[in-house]
Amino acid sequence: MGNEPITFRIKTLTPLWTGGTDGKMDRIHETGIIGSIRWWYEVIARGLGYYVCDPTSDNRCKLSGKEKDSTERISKLCPACYLFGTTGWKRMFNLPLTIDGKQPVRGNEPFSQATTNIINKNWLSKVFEKNLDDMDFFGSLELRVLPRCDRNQIEKQLKAVLSIMSNFGSLGAKPQFGYGLFELSDDKEETKESLRIINRFLKENCFVKKSDDKKGFSLNNYWKIETEVGKSLPPANLEYLGKKGKDVYIPMSFDVRYMLRKEYLGKCGSKRATAEIFGGTKGDKWASKVFVSSFYKEDQKNEKYMLRIWGFTARAVSQIVREAIERDYETNNDAEFFSFGEMLSEVTQIDS
Ligand SMILES: [Zn+2]
Repeated sequence: MGNEPITFRIKTLTPLWTGGTDGKMDRIHETGIIGSIRWWYEVIARGLGYYVCDPTSDNRCKLSGKEKDSTERISKLCPACYLFGTTGWKRMFNLPLTIDGKQPVRGNEPFSQATTNIINKNWLSKVFEKNLDDMDFFGSLELRVLPRCDRNQIEKQLKAVLSIMSNFGSLGAKPQFGYGLFELSDDKEETKESLRIINRFLKENCFVKKSDDKKGFSLNNYWKIETEVGKSLPPANLEYLGKKGKDVYIPMSFDVRYMLRKEYLGKCGSKRATAEIFGGTKGDKWASKVFVSSFYKEDQKNEKYMLRIWGFTARAVSQIVREAIERDYETNNDAEFFSFGEMLSEVTQIDS
C-alpha cells in the first residue's frame, strides 16, 4: 500500500537550478527540489499562524528515539519536520526524479542572462555561460513522489504547496537569480483552496501555533508584482558575450536586481538596510528577501516577456520596486500586485 508514485508534471518557465558539484549543475539534484518545497511549506505554515523551526539551527526539531508512541513523536515536530524529516524522523516521501525529453524546448533559447553591468560579468560567465550547453534543465520534468505512508494526505499537501509555488515563487535553488519558475501541467489547486488544505492539515494534527513575528519569510509579508515587459527589451551591453550570445541573451534578473538594489539604496540611504532586503553582496546568497525571475513567456507564441518579482518585506519596499519596474521596463503601469493578507484571514476564519 502506498507504493504507487504520485506524479506531478512540471513545465519550467525559466531554467531550473538544483545545485550540483563544483557550482556547475551537472544533473537534477532532488535535494534542491525538496529543499525549495520545504522552504515554501514553512512560509505557508508561518503565514497560517503555526510554529516552524529553523532546520539549520540547533533549535530544530529532533527526536531522541526514546519517545514512547507516535503521539509523543509528533508532538515534538513542527509541520515542516513532520513532512520533510529531521534528525530521528524520516521524510514522509521519496522523490526520485525523471526528466522528460532531455532537449531544450525550441523557441526558448533566449533564457540565459546578460547584464549591463560590467561588475557582474565574471559572475555571469562563471555561473551561467558554462552551463549554456546544459539547457536541458529547461523543459518538462516529472516529480515522482513515493509516499511512505498516507498517500492521499501527502498528495494533497504537496499539490497544495506546489500550486502556490507555481503562482507565487519558484522551484529549486537560486530563486533570487531567476531560476525555477514553473507551471504544473495537470490540474492545480486554486490558491485559496491550497491554503485551506494546508490549514486543515495543520489543525487536524494539532501543530503548535505561534504568532508571526513578521520578520521572517511568511505569507504574511509576502508580495508579488507580475507584469508584461515592454516590447523593446531594455538595452544591455552584450559585447562580452561574443557572437554566440547576442541572439540568445537578453538582460534578466541579475540586471533587474542590480537596478532595484541601487534604487532602494538611493531611496533609503542605508547600505545596511539595503543589504537586509536584497541580501549581502558576499556570503549567503539566500539572505535576499526580494526575488526576481528571469524574463519568461507563458506561451512561446507570445511576443512579450513577463517578469515576476516577489518579496517578504514591508509594503513600502514593494512600492519602490513597482515604481522602478514601471519606469525602466515599460510595463504601462499594468503590473499586477498581490499580497495574501485578506485571503489568509479568510482561510483561518473559515476553518477555525
Ligand atoms: Zn521542525
